[in-house]
Amino acid sequence: MKNTIFLFCPLNLLSFASFSQEKPTNVILMIGDGMGLPQITTSIYFKDSPSNFEQFTDIGFIKTSSTSHKVTDSAAGATAFATGQKSYNRAISVSPDSVRLETILEKLEAKNYNTGLISLTTITHATPACFYAHVTDRDMHEEIAEQLTNSGVDFFAGAGLDYFTKRKDGKDFYKTLEEKGYSMDSVKLVTNPYPDKKYGHLLAATEMPAKTKGRGDYLPDATELALNYFKSPNEPFFLMVEGSYIDWAGHANDAEMLIQEELDFDKTIGVVLNFLKENPNTLLVITADHETGGVAVGKGKSADELSIYFTTDQHTAELIPVFSMGRGSELFRGIYENNEIYHKLATILKL
Ligand code: MG
Ligand code: ZN
Repeated sequence: MKNTIFLFCPLNLLSFASFSQEKPTNVILMIGDGMGLPQITTSIYFKDSPSNFEQFTDIGFIKTSSTSHKVTDSAAGATAFATGQKSYNRAISVSPDSVRLETILEKLEAKNYNTGLISLTTITHATPACFYAHVTDRDMHEEIAEQLTNSGVDFFAGAGLDYFTKRKDGKDFYKTLEEKGYSMDSVKLVTNPYPDKKYGHLLAATEMPAKTKGRGDYLPDATELALNYFKSPNEPFFLMVEGSYIDWAGHANDAEMLIQEELDFDKTIGVVLNFLKENPNTLLVITADHETGGVAVGKGKSADELSIYFTTDQHTAELIPVFSMGRGSELFRGIYENNEIYHKLATILKL
């Protein structure tokens, strides 16, 4: 009897240990800046193949008002996603009384997650900045750039080189990033990344070109590069990908730009969905900070043609869709406030 107990106890412990060691959840948060339901609708009607949005069954809506305005800006919107607290328009992850709010990226960095940020505009722009910086106004690009150097972000791709190298204080934070172990590039995406290195891309002085001005496949390519980088070490990751110019197309009332930016974002979703198939310990959440342009997809000149109409060149207060897939995605159904995105992520990540 004694022998039997000694034989079976260690085995039982082993199997219990492997059963309880669930792989931590990777999170991919995709933000289509300015992407409301009409923008998503363009990817249904103007794409030659089925839109990647059609693959989702867990769908919700968020209310996006900030503490200062019914109609939010991108700074207050991303602050809500990143910190779980609503703040005023123009705030970069600070509270209405300017107190620093710890972000999901900072909390995950502290738990040894790998982290990444991808944007089309300057990496110091409101949406990406809210994940690693804390300033009272979104236009404080040079302060935000300095804070990026201390953020611990493992992979970033975007623009805004000038805020690192052509600064009023004369400092060179591109060099600082290199000194901190980043493999930096200002021309192209660095291929074959090694998991033990950090990667930084500042690929334009201030911003990338629009898709209609020859940007090519930067957004899907950067996303694929980041996912390949993150999957090699056996560590979980958090990645934020921003389709920044859906918003800019709305401000410019530029229908062709809107369609091209939305299709580029849709293509990038395809890259992420391929990753999800092979990595089921991943949660994908796709949403937006607000709608821009008050867009309607309506009847065109001929009966079978569609036209894009704009009712404003500003943001709107429309409910914003949330598409989720993967581990814990069912939590994102329903209608709720934008800062609940953070709290739902925190629940799944046990933050
Ligand atoms: Mg943005
Ligand atoms: Zn905007």
